[in-house]
Amino acid sequence: MTEKSWIDEKFADIEYNLKTISQDIAEAAVKSGRKPEDIDFMAVTKTVDEMFINHAIECGIKLIGENKVQEMLRKKPNLNLNSVKKNLIGHLQTNKVSQIVGEVDMIESVDSLKVAKEIGKQSVKKNLITDVLLEINIGREESKTGFLPEQAQECVYEIAQIDGIRVRGLMTIPPICDDNTKLCEFFEKIYNMYVDIGAKKIDNVYMNILSMGMSGDYVTAILCGSNHVRIGSKIFGPRIY
Ligand SMILES: *Cc1c(COP(=O)(O)O)cnc(C)c1O
Repeated sequence: MTEKSWIDEKFADIEYNLKTISQDIAEAAVKSGRKPEDIDFMAVTKTVDEMFINHAIECGIKLIGENKVQEMLRKKPNLNLNSVKKNLIGHLQTNKVSQIVGEVDMIESVDSLKVAKEIGKQSVKKNLITDVLLEINIGREESKTGFLPEQAQECVYEIAQIDGIRVRGLMTIPPICDDNTKLCEFFEKIYNMYVDIGAKKIDNVYMNILSMGMSGDYVTAILCGSNHVRIGSKIFGPRIY
């Protein structure tokens, strides 16, 4: 195959995958009593070449996510981001906060009080407010960062008081489950936390985003209450590191 035809084929795959996933999302939204447009569809673009990301944007993607600060900053100038939002979704080290604040629309992966304070400090310095989600380690896994479920509410209260930050919701990656019932239990547990915390009407908290669902489980996640799915490999194919 010539290089050109390889790229054309990949463009066609991306377009097809986006259509299929959009249909799945729309169906799951309606099934769970919402409208298709109530669900944010994020394309996770880590390891993906800029030309393919730009193609996904041409096909209608309005939100992208990267998990590394350096990769986000490197790609950003090469992307057609007019009217496209970009969120950070990976673990953020405190010493990288100053580089990313102001460069993204939201940080979905706030996993400690320390990093939240630094985001606040750097946002105040730049005279802006950074929208954040709190990452919850719903399966209490050692391998994952994030707040434990029982810490979530207290942490929302504390983080809400930090200047320069606005809490917008929760984010999670559940443990790998081959059993759909078990997976639903994790998703429902965090959905209930999201609703409960939202109902408290805490000052400076605008809880309206529940970020959960990836390539393997986005339909289940939406059926369990997600309104923001983060999908990578199902759009762009397997990641090559
Ligand atoms: C990579 C990644 C995703 C997307 O994973 P896929 O299984 O490829 O859809 C979603 N969320 C986070 C935080 C990620 O790092």
